Amino acid sequence: MAAIPPGSRQRCTVCGVEIQGMVGGGDLVHFSQGGPGSRAKLWARVCQYLKGDAQRAQCLNQDANLRGSVTPSDYYAEAPMIDLGGAMGSPGGAPGTDS
Ligand SMILES: [Zn+2]
Repeated sequence: MAAIPPGSRQRCTVCGVEIQGMVGGGDLVHFSQGGPGSRAKLWARVCQYLKGDAQRAQCLNQDANLRGSVTPSDYYAEAPMIDLGGAMGSPGGAPGTDS
């Protein structure tokens, strides 16, 4: 499983993402949704769940040296923070209509 040459992209067919080689490592992963992320993020969300040796053999992101260390934030969804300022205190119900 060779590193991706800087400046080129390779598609991980099992994960469905493109990985762009970067100079000095820290490759960029282009997810189908959201902005690009790290190999660690890709692994945390996708690659670690691959089933069986056949899929892992095709995955471009199974090399621990390439993906680096996975941090807790890599596991979280990339949804933007939602301002709950106007919606606090009334989960599941309209305010002021208690009977
Ligand atoms: Zn993969």
